[in-house]
Amino acid sequence: MAAAEAATITVTVLIPVYNEEDGLAECYRRLDAVAGQCAEAFEFLFVDDGSSDGSAAWLLALRERDARVGVIELSRNFGKEVAVSAGLDHASGDVVMLLDADLQDPPELIPDFIAAWREGYDMVYGQRLSREGETWLKIKTSHWFYRVINVLSDVPIPADAGDFRLLSRRAVEAVKALREKHRYMSGLYAWIGYPQKALPYHRHPRHSGRTKWNYWRLWGLALEGITSFSTVPLKLATLLGVVTAGAAFLYGVYFLLRTLLFGNPVPGYPSLIVVMLFLGGVQLICLGIIGEYLGRTYVESKQRQLYYLRGLHPRREQQHHD
Ligand code: UDP
Ligand code: MG
Repeated sequence: MAAAEAATITVTVLIPVYNEEDGLAECYRRLDAVAGQCAEAFEFLFVDDGSSDGSAAWLLALRERDARVGVIELSRNFGKEVAVSAGLDHASGDVVMLLDADLQDPPELIPDFIAAWREGYDMVYGQRLSREGETWLKIKTSHWFYRVINVLSDVPIPADAGDFRLLSRRAVEAVKALREKHRYMSGLYAWIGYPQKALPYHRHPRHSGRTKWNYWRLWGLALEGITSFSTVPLKLATLLGVVTAGAAFLYGVYFLLRTLLFGNPVPGYPSLIVVMLFLGGVQLICLGIIGEYLGRTYVESKQRQLYYLRGLHPRREQQHHD
């Protein structure tokens, strides 16, 4: 690839930021170094997701110094998924590289992502090989999560593929067109279906600051993923109802015959209470499953905007080819 030809391509590096004040300088330093080694033109698009620390001010000051930097400020904290979506809406690059501000995913791999894109892939996703600084329990739960979701979902969702990924322009346009409020991003990326390639890498511990991750969030993410990409739980609820009703009917027939043949012996309080509790439990689970879907339908039906902007500060540098 001739350098001149490569320079006509713009790479947007999209970075969602939520209270990352302490890590941003290092993040920018490493990004700048990577960009310096690449022939492509770069845009660094930071999305401030309603940070309450000095992140936004720091980014706006950075934009004054570096014309490649663009800053989008959301009106409040909307969560990473929406922050990334807002960034995709405003990214101008021919390809968009998603990167976390906490440097868990090494920016030095960006040239490898670009190389894979040049091979003709629309989506190049980093696949975590190791997870330094993460507990055994988190690794196990996430492993099982991917097992379950892939059994349930219609589209295969690659395991251990997070938001460290590169999207071609048409992949960006495809994801932009999906405006659902409940955004299980790994699923959306898989769902659009263009040629995809995995790029294995080692994930590092956070550079600074604290993760917003916890088990409650993983539970939420699991529900999000499953309900967004599968209605199998609803079918299971029906099946569970049919099976328990069938079993109850057979049990009733058994008691009827036993009473007719042998009379009515000691009343069966234990069996009664067990059956009652079991049925109550089954009903509550099924109601819960229906509720998860209904709640999401409710949220989607309100048709609210995905986000609002507090400020839009595009990069000052013009693209080379326009
Ligand atoms: N983030 C965000 N909004 C949020 C939470 C996180 O934009 O509400 C950003 C955060 O600043 C970081 C990235 O999303 O750049 C990943 O966040 P985090 O490290 O907490 O997630 P983890 O790596 O633990 O999955
Ligand atoms: Mg992180």
